[in-house]
Amino acid sequence: MTTLAFAPRRAWTPPRITSHGHEFLRVSTDVLATHDPATGELVATIETSTLSDVDDAVDRAHDSFARSSWRNDGALRSRVLFRWAERMRTNVDELAELLTREQGKTLAQARGEVHSSINMIEFNAGQARAIYGRAIALSDGVHGVVLREPMGVVAAITPWNYPLNLTIRAVAPALAAGNSVIVKPASLTPAIVVHALSLLAADHDLPGGILSAVVGSGATVGDRLVGHDGVQMIAFTGESKTGIDVMKRAADGLKKVSLELGGKSPNIVFADANVDKALAGAENAIFSAAGQICTAGSRLLVEESMHDEFVTRLAERASALRVGDGLDPQTQMGPLISAAQKRAVCEYIEIGKADGGTLVAGGGDLNVAPYDKGHFVAPTVVTGLPSGSRLLSEEVFGPVLAVQSFASEDEAVALANGTDFGLACGLWTSNLDRAWRMGRAIEAGTIWINTYHHFYAEMEVGGFKRSGVGRQQGMEGLLEFTETKHLNFDSNISLW
Ligand code: NDP
Repeated sequence: MTTLAFAPRRAWTPPRITSHGHEFLRVSTDVLATHDPATGELVATIETSTLSDVDDAVDRAHDSFARSSWRNDGALRSRVLFRWAERMRTNVDELAELLTREQGKTLAQARGEVHSSINMIEFNAGQARAIYGRAIALSDGVHGVVLREPMGVVAAITPWNYPLNLTIRAVAPALAAGNSVIVKPASLTPAIVVHALSLLAADHDLPGGILSAVVGSGATVGDRLVGHDGVQMIAFTGESKTGIDVMKRAADGLKKVSLELGGKSPNIVFADANVDKALAGAENAIFSAAGQICTAGSRLLVEESMHDEFVTRLAERASALRVGDGLDPQTQMGPLISAAQKRAVCEYIEIGKADGGTLVAGGGDLNVAPYDKGHFVAPTVVTGLPSGSRLLSEEVFGPVLAVQSFASEDEAVALANGTDFGLACGLWTSNLDRAWRMGRAIEAGTIWINTYHHFYAEMEVGGFKRSGVGRQQGMEGLLEFTETKHLNFDSNISLW
C-alpha cells in the first residue's frame, strides 16, 4: 500500500530537559505506549505521572511565577517564544513525521499543523510586549488604571486530533500573558506534544517551573490538575461531555475555565454557488484528517434544486479518495486514531442505515489488506436521513457525512441551528446579501463564506451553545489568560 517517505521508523523516547534544575517532564511511574494508527507499530514509550508528580509541578509552577521576572517582563517572554518558534521551524520534518506516526494524519496535513503552530507562537510572541492596560481621569484628583495581569498557574488539557496545534493554541498565549503553564496531553498522543514542548523547555532564559508537562489519564492526572487548589485556570479542549465534567469540578474551586468542545457543523450550499469550489469545500470539510476535527462539516445542507446532482458528484469524489498510511505521499485520508474510535464511527454508520439513510459512498470498516493493521474507515456519505436521526445531531468524529436538502433560506437556518452545538458553519453562495443574512442568523463561533477550515492566529475561534465557553486565538484568546485589575488613585484629602 505505501511507499514509505521515512525509513527506518524509530521508536521515540522522551528527551529529558532540565531547565534551571527543574525537570520539565514530571513523570515517574507506569510506562504508556503509543502506536501508529495506520500500522499498529510502536511509536513511543513514555512514563506517566503520579499524583505527587502533578502536585510537584503545581508547586514549582507557583514558586516560579512568584519569584521569577517572567510575569513582569514582556520582552523576555517575547524573546523566549520567538526562539521556540525558530527551533520548531528547524525541526519541521521531524515533528511532522512524529505527528503523522502517532496521530495518523497525512504528512502534508502534519506539516500544515506544525507550520500553523509556529505561526500561533509567533503571533503570541509579538503580543507578549503589547498587553496594554488603560488609564482614565475619573474626577478631580482621581485616576483609574486598569492592568491586565496573568492568572497564575494555568493547566492546559488537550485532545489527540490536532495535538500540537491545540496544545500550542493554549500554551503560547498563556505564556505570552505571563502565566506558568502545566500541560496534560491526550494519552493517545503524548510524544508529539512533549517533543514540541521540549524545544521550548530547553531555552536557557525560560525560568524553571514556568513550563511543565504531566502525562497520564484524564481521570487521574487530568482530574488532579482540575481539582488542584494551586491551579487558577483550566484551558480545556476536548469532548463536550468531558468539558461539562471539567467545568463542574472546577466550580468547586471557582476556577476560570476556557472550554473548546465538540461540534456538528453545517456546511450549506446554495444553488448560486460556484459548484466546483463547493464540492472541493464539502469534501475537505468532512474528510480532512478523516473527519476528526472539531469543526468538521459533518452536515451538508444542499439547496433542493441541485441536491441530486451535487450529491452524485460528491459521492464520486469520496469514493475516489486515496485512503492509506499518512506517511505515503499518495495518501489523501489516513486512519482513525484507535480501534475504539473506529468502532464508534462504524456504529454511527449502522445507526444511519437503521434509520433509513441511504449510503451513497463508503459504508464502514476497511478491515481487509492492506488496511487490516490499522483503523481505517471508508469516506462515507449518507442521504435521506429522517429528522430525528442521531447521525444528524451527534458528533461522530469520523469521515461520515450526513446530507440534507432545503428549499429556502429560512429552512436552511432552522436546520443549521437545529443541534446543541454551535462551533462552525460553511456557506457557499455568490450572493453577498445572502451571505450576510445567513452569517448573522447562524449560531456558531466561526462562519466560513466560500471556504472552509481556514484558521488564522489573529482570528478568534470558539463555540456557541454546547461547543464551548470563551475564545481562543486572536487578542481575545490571549486576554482569556489574564485578570483585569483596577488601581484607583485618589489625591483628594478627605474621603468623606
Ligand atoms: P476528551 O474529552 O476525551 O479528552 C480531552 C482531554 O481531556 C484529554 O487529554 C483527556 O485525557 C482529558 N480528560 C479526559 N477526562 C478528563 C477529566 N475527567 N478531567 C480532566 N481531563 C480529562 O476528548 P478527545 O481527546 O477524545 O478529543 C476529541 C474531542 O475534542 C471531540 O469532541 C472534538 O470535537 C473536541 N475538540 C474540540 C476542539 C475545539 O476547538 N472546539 C478542537 C479539537 C477537538 P486522556 O487522553 O487521558 O483521556
